[in-house]
Amino acid sequence: MAIYEFPFITGKVTIDYEKCKDCENYACVKACSLFGRAILRVEDGKPVLISEDANKRCIEDLTCELYCQTYGNRGLNIILDMFGLEAYRYKIELS
Ligand code: SF4
Repeated sequence: MAIYEFPFITGKVTIDYEKCKDCENYACVKACSLFGRAILRVEDGKPVLISEDANKRCIEDLTCELYCQTYGNRGLNIILDMFGLEAYRYKIELS
């Protein structure tokens, strides 16, 4: 399984290229060009960053995942940190 990953300020994008093989529309790339900073492009049939450090320009609109999951072949997922989770766990253990 080929997984493409890149970080952004508060999280990480993972793309499963096995699923992209059967994708008919590259909705992730379209979403980024419509709502984000157009940091994705298609290369050899796969979505990739337009440059090695393009992820630093991500505005975290998260539409690549929304469009992929809604219109694409569900190959892209965003992983976000759960800010405050440790503090919350600590709090509920005390109550
Ligand atoms: S929309 Fe999803 S399945 Fe299609 S190319 Fe993009 S990441 Fe892959």
